[in-house]
Amino acid sequence: MKNIFSLLTLLFLISCSSNAQTSSKEQKTYTIEKTNAEWKKILTPKQYYVLREAGTERAFSSSFNTNKATGTYVCAACKTPLYKSEYKYDSGSGWPSFDRAIKNNVELDVDYKIGYARTELKCNTCGGHLGHSFDDGPKNTTGKRHCINGIALKFNANK
Ligand SMILES: [Zn+2]
Repeated sequence: MKNIFSLLTLLFLISCSSNAQTSSKEQKTYTIEKTNAEWKKILTPKQYYVLREAGTERAFSSSFNTNKATGTYVCAACKTPLYKSEYKYDSGSGWPSFDRAIKNNVELDVDYKIGYARTELKCNTCGGHLGHSFDDGPKNTTGKRHCINGIALKFNANK
């Protein structure tokens, strides 16, 4: 009898710990999900490198650095509106910079790729990597700097 009781306790403990493990490893699912092969068909190699492999474009390589036109920056992969031109400012960093994103459309995630925690910015619709958020943005607005790879964006000018 005592043995059965310990066995049940053991089973209970095992099932609890395996449940806990599943939930902590749970992957976020996105509205738009594609296989790597499907993404490679619709993205250029440079876009794929940034959006799907979390790469970084060369500083000062994006024409969006100097774009002052009024409009909306959308995800280059799935066209979700991510940034408005009025959120853009000149950070001098060499990457297009914004002090905030369009609400709910950009996901904030933490990565440890370079040894310390950074806030990674991803498209909330397709999970595409956009860039990182830093706390050295304009003090008079949000204090945030969304440092974005221009190649991960497309620009729709306001008509
Ligand atoms: Zn997207």
